[in-house]
Amino acid sequence: VPLDELISGLTVDVPDFPTPGVLFRDLTPVFADGPAFRRVVEGLAAPVREDPRAAVTHTDDGAAGDPGFDVVVGVEARGFLLAAAVALHAGVGVVPVRKAGKLPRERVAADYALEYGTASIEMHTDSLHAGQRVLLVDDVLATGGTLAAAVALVEELGAVVTAVCVVVELSALGGRERLVPHEVRALWTT
Ligand code: 5GP
Repeated sequence: VPLDELISGLTVDVPDFPTPGVLFRDLTPVFADGPAFRRVVEGLAAPVREDPRAAVTHTDDGAAGDPGFDVVVGVEARGFLLAAAVALHAGVGVVPVRKAGKLPRERVAADYALEYGTASIEMHTDSLHAGQRVLLVDDVLATGGTLAAAVALVEELGAVVTAVCVVVELSALGGRERLVPHEVRALWTT
């Protein structure tokens, strides 16, 4: 089965959640299915082509097995389920982007508007270093507000977003355009 069909077949559409008028795509059954979850993780972890904007601070540039990113950044909370698995698969570390008030040490913050409501996300100031190549992961790309804020945090720390990876892209909401010039990799676009 093609991966996009596998994902769409397991995703449950929930009307009017969390507010009236929103069609919520529930991906938890995708994560709960072992073979599907493995294919999703492999798809998100696929190598990224070298980004010329990346600083040459890493030592294995071009080496066999270099996935094209040095670290995976995952967005709370569903992004965490994916980011840790993707990082393990690729042999790199994982760094969290958290909702405001959760991280204990010095942090940077970005406010953003959601498809529903507003929020603020944070990263530890020392969680990335200059020139580090980041694969940014979340479950769903809707308006792109969340991931645009996450990109801003990563870049504020001097790191480089090599790709933004999501399981599902809700294309009508324009998130991909909002993330230009960053490459968006979606396993299922609907
Ligand atoms: P955006 O900021 O792109 O509008 O919304 C994306 C964020 O909201 C992601 O963190 C995602 O988890 C959540 N989100 C928005 N819509 C949906 C949805 O239909 N299903 C799921 N699972 N998450 C959504």
